[in-house]
Order: sequence, then C-alpha cells, then structure tokens
Amino acid sequence: MSATNPVNNLQALIRCPSVTPAEGGALSVLEAMLAPLGFKVERVVARAEGTPDVENLYARIGSGGPHLMFAGHTDVVPPGNEADWSHPPFAAEISDGMLFGRGAVDMKGGIACFVAAVARHIEKHGAPEGSISFLITGDEEGPAINGTDKLLQWAAEKGEKWDACLVGEPTNPDVLGDMIKIGRRGSLSGRITVQGVQGHSAYPHLADNPIRGLLQLTHALMDEPFDHGTTNFPPSNLEVTTIDTGNPAVNVIPAKATAAFNIRFNDTWTADSLQSEIIRRLEAAAAEGSLRPGRDPVRYEIVWNERPSHVFLTRNDALIESLSLAVEKITGRRPALSTTGGTSDARFIKDYCPVVEFGLVGQTMHMVDERVSVEDLETLTNIYGSFIANWFAHARSA
Ligand SMILES: [Zn+2]
Repeated sequence: MSATNPVNNLQALIRCPSVTPAEGGALSVLEAMLAPLGFKVERVVARAEGTPDVENLYARIGSGGPHLMFAGHTDVVPPGNEADWSHPPFAAEISDGMLFGRGAVDMKGGIACFVAAVARHIEKHGAPEGSISFLITGDEEGPAINGTDKLLQWAAEKGEKWDACLVGEPTNPDVLGDMIKIGRRGSLSGRITVQGVQGHSAYPHLADNPIRGLLQLTHALMDEPFDHGTTNFPPSNLEVTTIDTGNPAVNVIPAKATAAFNIRFNDTWTADSLQSEIIRRLEAAAAEGSLRPGRDPVRYEIVWNERPSHVFLTRNDALIESLSLAVEKITGRRPALSTTGGTSDARFIKDYCPVVEFGLVGQTMHMVDERVSVEDLETLTNIYGSFIANWFAHARSA
C-alpha cells in the first residue's frame, strides 16, 4: 500500500471507530502505512489508576538530527445520534467533493496528510537527512492522562530528542491558510464554597445566607480585568460557570453555596501567580461587607482543579517561518499567528521542543456530518510537504 494519497489514508483511518479510549484499529492502520516507508513503529500502552488503558504509537525514521516530530491523535469524540448523519460516521463516504466521517478534520485528516507528505518526500528524495517521527496518542479527546504526556516521558527516557514539532490539529477558522497557532492560553479552574447558617428566610438575623457572601466573592473575580492582553495574547478572562446551593425550598436560607470558575489566561501570569491574585481578591472581598453589612468576614474555602494548563508561546522563528512560508507558497495566503482557542496537547510538547500547530479547517469538528473537502486534503499535504523541505533545509544550514 502506498501512503502518498491523503484521501485513501483518511478513509482507512475513519473506518476505524476509535472513540476514546478505543484504539479501534486506527493505530494498526497507521502502522501499516508507516512501516513500509521505513519507520520503526512502537506501540505503547499507558495505564493509570481510575482511567482506561490507552494505546499510543511512536514511529521514527532516521537516527540522527535534525529531528522533526509530527504529533496528533487518532481518537475521536462519539458520533452522537448516527441517524442524524447524512453519511454514516465511520464509512468515510465522499459526496460532492466532501469526505464525511468522525475525525475527518479533528484530526485523522491532519495525520492522513502528514503521512502522505512524508511518503511523497521519501519517494522523491529517499529517507530524510535527519529524522522524522510520529507521536500519536489515543487519549486527546478524553482525560488526556494516558496520552501525549506519558508518551513524551516514555520516549524521552529512551533518549529521544526533538528539534521541533508540528501538531496537526485543525487551526483554520474558515479557509485553509488562515491561521497557525504559535501558543496557547493557560487554563485554571477552581471551586469556592461559602459556609453560612441555615434558617428561615423570614428570620434572616438568625441565619447567615451564604449566597450573599458568594456573590461578593464572585463579583470580585469578575469585576476588574485581570490584564489588558499582551502582544501575542488576548486579555485573560474568567467565567463563573456554575453557582449551586442544592436548595429546593424558596423559604429556607441554605447552609452553604458553591461556585465554580474557569479562567483562560495569557502570558502576564503563571498558574501560581494567578492563584495568588485570585486569593488576594477573595480575601479582600470576604472582609468587605456590601451585601452583608455588620457581619463577620465571609467564611469560604477554595479547591483548585488539579493540573492547570500552562500558558506558552513559541519563539522559534525558523520553525514558524518554515511553516508560514509553506502556507503562503501553496495557498497564496499569509497565515495569522494566533494563540486563541482552547488548550491542546501542544501544552505537553512545549516542555521538550518548540511547537506550532497547523491543520485543516475546524468548522465541523465534533459536529454531526464532520467533513473535509477532498481538495483541502491535497492542499494540506502540499503545505506539509513544503514545510518539511523548508524546515530541514533551514535546520541543516543552521
Ligand atoms: Zn483534536
């Protein structure tokens, strides 16, 4: 089987129902594409208590530097109600130039194109002067505990070192060539619980309504902007995402109230400095009494969600330029360099080497009728091919 055709590659991958955490045959299909090209393919099962075992794949061709890594995931989100799809989600049918299926853009499509680009490169020039590796996880859409993070640790312990990484997530909002991601905001979440005294709403002096205190605290988190944005990032933004008392009665003051929040933050902050700022705001708001005149300070506790995502920005000009020039050459468009959107596995990779992200148009990701234009698959393959040539030419001359 020749892996030079991205459409064939993608159809084979989509036909494997690899809904997280199931491997679904997707990694075996990928292995069957890469091994004939000369890649040494390793399958790595990651385990952690309380989470399902997950299969991952690491494949490398070449032994010396420079070493370029392509990273991505073969797991997909569930299709939802299959009857709502105009083509079955795991059939990979093509209709009017569109290829339908779960994972078409997020992100089996990106993998299919990168494999095709590498296959064409090897067909034309032989094995790369240096190394190319694939770091592919089956746990990106799930808890992301048994995926990229562990696979990187496993590979690094074996002595693997990379000079740069491209993640093939769908980064373009509307048209192929719109946007390269050169960093991501951080994400931090927590839950605040305010203790009150339960009582009758007609006798509030005998009770202490925790909702009053909670509103003081959440107001303090939402009121003043945390910053005004930086050169490469939008302003940090906090959203209170739920407020609960679990109280079904209208005439009972509840005993406690909780609120959860999530903040997406820029490079003004680290997760630590931001936690300190949030505590400072909560302490000040707890002591002041606009909603609870004459009362003692609000009694509250805060529990932080484990594993905040750290903010990062890639400053490797050679990597960014190799990719930008490839996009411009193939599409005629100069891509925006962006840090918008949610987190991705690039947050783990950035600790090992500079990382950028570029893939397909993301409009239908996670939706019913997820689909990609066949033309875009060929265009992305050409962009990746040009990027590989640019990056190796630069890395060897540096
Ligand atoms: Zn994805």
